[in-house]
Amino acid sequence: MGWDIKVDAAKCTGDGACKDACPVDVYEIKGGKAVPVNADECLGCESCVEACEADAITVTEE
Ligand code: SF4
Repeated sequence: MGWDIKVDAAKCTGDGACKDACPVDVYEIKGGKAVPVNADECLGCESCVEACEADAITVTEE
């Protein structure tokens, strides 16, 4: 069981709110967009989803 993280690049502004909110450093900002480089570490807490003002992130159990 894990968590599937999707970032809508068309909505992402790259402000890093998700990166700042994530307790386990899942995100890096690359090319101005959030990339979940450590998705395996995700806890499913949805702090990134709540932090994203652009509503660009979804986290679903897989
Ligand atoms: S759901 Fe929580 S642990 Fe997973 S990427 Fe978002 S902030 Fe990080």
